[in-house]
Amino acid sequence: MVRVGVNGYGTIGKRVADAILKQDDMELVGVVKTRPDYSALQAVRRGIRIYAPDAESARKLEAGGVPVAGTIHDLLGQVDVIIDATPGGVGAKYKPLYEEAGVKAIFQGGEEADVAEASFSSLCNYEQAVGKRSLRVVSCNTTGLLRLICTLNKAIGVKSVRATLVRRAADPRETKRGPVNSINISPVKLPSHHGEDVKTVLPGLDIVTAAVVVPTTLMHVHLVNLRLARPASLDEVLEALQSTRRIMLVDSGRTGIKSTAELIEAARDAGRPRNDIPELAVFKDSITINGDELILFQAVHQESIVIPENIDAVRAIMNMASREESIRKTDESLGLGTPLW
Ligand code: NAD
Repeated sequence: MVRVGVNGYGTIGKRVADAILKQDDMELVGVVKTRPDYSALQAVRRGIRIYAPDAESARKLEAGGVPVAGTIHDLLGQVDVIIDATPGGVGAKYKPLYEEAGVKAIFQGGEEADVAEASFSSLCNYEQAVGKRSLRVVSCNTTGLLRLICTLNKAIGVKSVRATLVRRAADPRETKRGPVNSINISPVKLPSHHGEDVKTVLPGLDIVTAAVVVPTTLMHVHLVNLRLARPASLDEVLEALQSTRRIMLVDSGRTGIKSTAELIEAARDAGRPRNDIPELAVFKDSITINGDELILFQAVHQESIVIPENIDAVRAIMNMASREESIRKTDESLGLGTPLW
């Protein structure tokens, strides 16, 4: 049983903690929370032990009715691996603490790539991550792009990728982020960093990305234009995409789903926890092939897509299972591929 701690209990941290609780080869020792709020109180009700980043936060948590099991130093003394889910850039500040404690660390995509020994994507480079001291699970957009690229690479081969990302402005619970009434070209100077982030996992890939930010909180949407290594048929592409539970094909003709709003509603109707869609959602009817050129729309549920990769990252960094075994265990335990309609 590998003992795991989670530092940071926001959008990603709370989902990672729940996912660890579902694994039969991992134990969630506790989570680090800064403030006593509804999330902390809910975690306490569910029996999750709360640790504080420092003594001052511990006092505030206790005063707010949240029992504290200790500070992050106490947590680090009891775990084999820590998953850092603090806001982008904060993880790098914690890195020396993790190293000092001799604990392996898994960071998130908001950190610079050099925070860890390797950037990680289960379908692309699981084997290279085995036994490392630190990993960085790439961001939600990068995870979505890599799932598509590595799945097609394995079956057919991918020569180059051009992608336009329509990004959500904020997560649903965030009250202070925008834009409220604008489409922000972000960044104006091309390319956007997302393609560069893909290259932290696939260094040789010819990829260029551009991104805009729109006033929505539900999901990102990508228009991907991909040059395959050779001409392929629609059947071959569909077969490749159906070979993994990490990709969901959305049949708009049959389901009527033509938007992120309807996709999230389908997840709600299906009773998915927090309406999460950790699968990459590829719109089947958008798949267009001209010889070796492939065009499609895909949607990324930013709050949950990196959760399976975090669980695989624990198995890879601790050398607990082969890639196939880890992916199978993760997918089964988290219910990936269970139908939404
Ligand atoms: P978040 O703001 O929702 O959660 C971060 C949590 O860390 C909050 O609970 C915050 O109170 C806590 N925190 C802040 N400072 C801390 C400190 N010093 N010590 C301990 N905890 C502290 O952020 P998030 O969206 O969960 O993002 C976490 C990481 O995951 C970032 O690197 C982000 O880029 C990445 N990521 C986010 C998304 C997404 O869409 N939200 C998707 C993929 C990856």
